[in-house]
Amino acid sequence: TLKKSLGQNFLVDENILRKIVEAAGLTEESHVLEIGPGAGALTQFLAESARRVIAIEIDQRLEPILNETLQGYENVSVRFGDVLKMDLQQVITEECPPDVPITVVANLPYYVTTPILMKLLTGDVPIQTIVVMVQKEVAGRLGAVPGEKSYGSLSIAVQYMADPEIIMTVPKTVFVPQPNVDSAVIRLNVRPDKKVEVADEAFFFRLVRASFAQRRKTLVNNLMNNLFSKDKKDEILAVLNAVGIDPGRRGETLTIHEFAKLSDHFQNLINEQE
Ligand code: SAM
Repeated sequence: TLKKSLGQNFLVDENILRKIVEAAGLTEESHVLEIGPGAGALTQFLAESARRVIAIEIDQRLEPILNETLQGYENVSVRFGDVLKMDLQQVITEECPPDVPITVVANLPYYVTTPILMKLLTGDVPIQTIVVMVQKEVAGRLGAVPGEKSYGSLSIAVQYMADPEIIMTVPKTVFVPQPNVDSAVIRLNVRPDKKVEVADEAFFFRLVRASFAQRRKTLVNNLMNNLFSKDKKDEILAVLNAVGIDPGRRGETLTIHEFAKLSDHFQNLINEQE
């Protein structure tokens, strides 16, 4: 029996499986990391197109099914465990030649989409491309631009490191059991360089999260409530003024470049405070 709590909605449409593999642009040299192989439907297609496939599955009960589905494929290794707790760098080192670019392909468990994407994008593994099935609504957030309703800290975190591209939307009817929401396949083309240069990356992301904390409040109010102490209003206004950002704007209207500029200019103020 499948576990809803583990996001076990298996893809049963061969056409869509093929399109996912196609979107990954695999060659005979490709090294693929799959997260959540389930019963191995996607894994099989990946094994046929790539040099090597490493699949990480949390549910050990699937082992006999995976063994059966993947029988005869010598280029697949399945590891059981929680991808969020695994040292991916070590897994890749053990399974692949040094420094090969990794392609991630997965029909993700939706309850952990964001932490998985963050782990992939901010880790040490040299990931080149990520092709994943996510909830349609999440796909919209990944690619959202300033002013859009779905624009938020996830959009910025992803776009800081990669260029997102929606490959196709996918109806819930192609999964067993059917999830409650529609899905989309997205490709994240990881850039060699970050979108913007910031002096302190951790602080940049704190600033972004704080700016979106209360969506209906202005930037100044969010910064006073969620990042700096309340008595710092004048200092905050001075920085916004210096950078040329209207203090009445809301966080959701700021571009990634504006956040980067702000982050560098706020450095002194945050250092004083902490
Ligand atoms: N790849 C299969 C397919 O396309 O039919 C299954 C995809 S299903 C949406 C997600 C899979 O991820 C399930 O097999 C589930 O057990 C697994 N999973 C859930 N949480 C996980 C985690 N933290 N680490 C690794 N795998 C996980």
